[in-house]
Amino acid sequence: MTSQFDFDLIVIGAGSGGVRAGRIAAGYGARVAVIEGDRPGGTCVIRGCVPKKLLVYGASFAGEAEDAAGFGWQLDGLRHSWAQLIAAKDKEIDRLEGIYRNLLKNAGATLIEGWGKITGPHSVLVGTDSYTAERILIATGGHPAMPAIPGLAENAITSNEALDLKQRPNHILVYGSGYIALEFAGIFAGFGSQVDLVYRADLPLRGFDDDVRRHIAEALTDRGINLVSGRTISEVKQTDTGYEVVLDNGRVLTPDKVMAATGRSPNIEGLGLQEAGIKTNERGAVMVDEWSQTSTASIYAVGDVTDRINLTPVAIAEGHAFADTHFGGIARHIGYDNVPSAVFSQPNIASVGLTEPQAISEYGKIDVFESRFRAMKNTLSGRPEKTYMKLIVAKDSQKVIGVHMVGPDAAEIMQGMAIAVKMGAKKSDFDAVIGIHPSAAEEFVTMRTPRP
Ligand code: NDP
Repeated sequence: MTSQFDFDLIVIGAGSGGVRAGRIAAGYGARVAVIEGDRPGGTCVIRGCVPKKLLVYGASFAGEAEDAAGFGWQLDGLRHSWAQLIAAKDKEIDRLEGIYRNLLKNAGATLIEGWGKITGPHSVLVGTDSYTAERILIATGGHPAMPAIPGLAENAITSNEALDLKQRPNHILVYGSGYIALEFAGIFAGFGSQVDLVYRADLPLRGFDDDVRRHIAEALTDRGINLVSGRTISEVKQTDTGYEVVLDNGRVLTPDKVMAATGRSPNIEGLGLQEAGIKTNERGAVMVDEWSQTSTASIYAVGDVTDRINLTPVAIAEGHAFADTHFGGIARHIGYDNVPSAVFSQPNIASVGLTEPQAISEYGKIDVFESRFRAMKNTLSGRPEKTYMKLIVAKDSQKVIGVHMVGPDAAEIMQGMAIAVKMGAKKSDFDAVIGIHPSAAEEFVTMRTPRP
């Protein structure tokens, strides 16, 4: 029997979540179309995680060169070409875009280039062409959001533009203190820009463990970033030489670039959600149940457009579970507990599980083990920076329920910790593991005495 629809699945958005869903569904034999109005690859590949991490790598060499002096190297006359870095980064992103196109092609999915608008429970319009499908998956991601502050939207760049600047700013003001703000502050500071980090909380990274927040505030200051806490911006004015940024206490900062890193909003404009009866929440996110199903039964949504946990691997996992459920005969949805994440600031931050206040409210009594030490490399490099590690253990069950780290390679170390936490490892399991010596990671298996 032939289907009444053009496709079994239409995916709107060829980012991480959409491409995963599309190609897994196609692999199961479904007839799939993926609609994309911009470059396949989406936020993560084109203007997020990947180019950002390449710039983080680039910036990290400056610190390495400083550290090298303590080991006898004389690296005089170190110079950097921003233009060369951006060109190399662009070339790599072009290559990855090609891989994303091929992933879809090789899986047998059809890429339709243009912006999709949902016109009914089973129909999508792209330009003047209408397509139908049994199911539609919205995977349109998000975009940088800015608060309504006089002059901010007109004068500030976001992470989108920060990755493509023709020249590196000498002095940049970054507004916000979330993931993006800290990562870009580290990038620009690493390359030698003067960086002001202006944020409204008393410490950066609201929502992270407070010890982590205190430690990173110190580390960023040590790395030369000017932390301006507890302040908001009242106005941004362009001048002949750059910008005047007026803070709420009347202080004026004069950077030559202003970057807003003040959160992201779901991409729902022009999607026709209202017409299709798809409900959104007060933040504009598409509302879905645990199966990623929207208020319209044939329409689903995954990734940042649903504003659940806005991380690439989460979107990928949601897309994969959706495809398994509907096209692979494996009904499953993902779990949102113990999702590890990292901030690629310099130094790195990584966490899995609960913060101390969350642990107390969920488990009552807890033990906290922590270690603050100068990494071996810094004994010769002379860098004063310390590494911070913290384990939170539920007192009754002795389960490890939170792991936090600020220090080199925190992201790499935390991935393994996340497996242990996800498996429900106890403190005694950590204690039974022999450390790898000498490493920073071994501290996680050698902490013996809880904090009083
Ligand atoms: P975050 O939510 O992490 O941080 C937003 C920042 O903007 C906070 O410091 C917040 O302050 C501030 N802010 C928000 N609204 C205002 C306002 N009206 N006035 C002043 N300050 C404001 O968002 P990001 O933009 O950094 O990143 C978006 C998301 O993308 C992240 O949450 C994360 O999910 C994802 N991401 C993940 C990365 C990774 O895994 N490494 C990297 C980059 C992004 P306050 O804390 O006071 O609310």
